[in-house]
Amino acid sequence: MNKDIATPKRTQEILKKYGFSLKKSLGQNFLIDPNILHNIVSHADLTKESAVIEIGPGIGALTEHLSRQAGQVVAFEIDHRLLEVLEDTLSPYDNIEIILSDILKVNVADIMKEKLAEFKDVMVVANLPYYVTTPILIKLIMEKLPIRGMVVMMQKEVANRITAKPGTKEYGSLSIAIQYYMKAEIAMTVPRTVFIPPPNVDSAVLKLTLLESPPVAVLDEDFLFTVSRSSFAQRRKTIINNLQSQLPQGKEKKELILTALNEANIDPTRRGETLSIHEFGKLANLLLPNFK
Ligand code: SAM
Repeated sequence: MNKDIATPKRTQEILKKYGFSLKKSLGQNFLIDPNILHNIVSHADLTKESAVIEIGPGIGALTEHLSRQAGQVVAFEIDHRLLEVLEDTLSPYDNIEIILSDILKVNVADIMKEKLAEFKDVMVVANLPYYVTTPILIKLIMEKLPIRGMVVMMQKEVANRITAKPGTKEYGSLSIAIQYYMKAEIAMTVPRTVFIPPPNVDSAVLKLTLLESPPVAVLDEDFLFTVSRSSFAQRRKTIINNLQSQLPQGKEKKELILTALNEANIDPTRRGETLSIHEFGKLANLLLPNFK
């Protein structure tokens, strides 16, 4: 087997050889611990029948581990300076394709059709650039890609918000947006010492598994997210006050909202953070005819 990229010594050698300066603005915190990489990849349950989409290969630390376990890896990297580095570090592997693009600007579904059509099992695996964690996750989820799930490293605080249950302070519209499509669990937490440079936040690896069907049947998904965002607009306010100030103007607005809350069996003085995804679904369906 080839020597791992992700050791402190080899990483330093590679950075030095190419005179590469890490860009904080691109979230460039590279992993330097092969055990962590091994663990991340094991949570993805890959076989040679699987393909992987990676975001931000950096100098290839995670990419080479993915390449050893999967049939094919397609990795999106925004930093053009990394191409010559990756061509060198990943030269022993013949199942990796690097696409030099901002993941937020590409049509991932089209690229999957073009490059991964023969793979039925596709996972997203990444040590995400932390400054764009949420936009990347929301984009990949809303694109409704034909994937089995994701194993993604991010700041621990965001992973806690995504997996949060009702009644906790981390629970919010991000928890609902993701839990509507995916089963979300924290696979492991990761110390700052396994990166160079160490990030100034704690990290966690999140495992997301696509649900066969959503946990609640809604008539309009976008409107479910409008209602949940509105309900959390001011966390200390009651649900009736938040909905009243956030939903579009209309005649007898308060009465209509109260009727919907009543029909959904939701006390109007509760706060948004106490509502389950089922309650949000029910409420959204009842509000839809008058507010969309
Ligand atoms: N995978 C490597 C590792 O684990 O050592 C690097 C991970 S580093 C946290 C994030 C990587 O994402 C960097 O290589 C950075 O250049 C890249 N990146 C940042 N923003 C990006 C974007 N919008 N699209 C694609 N890649 C991006």
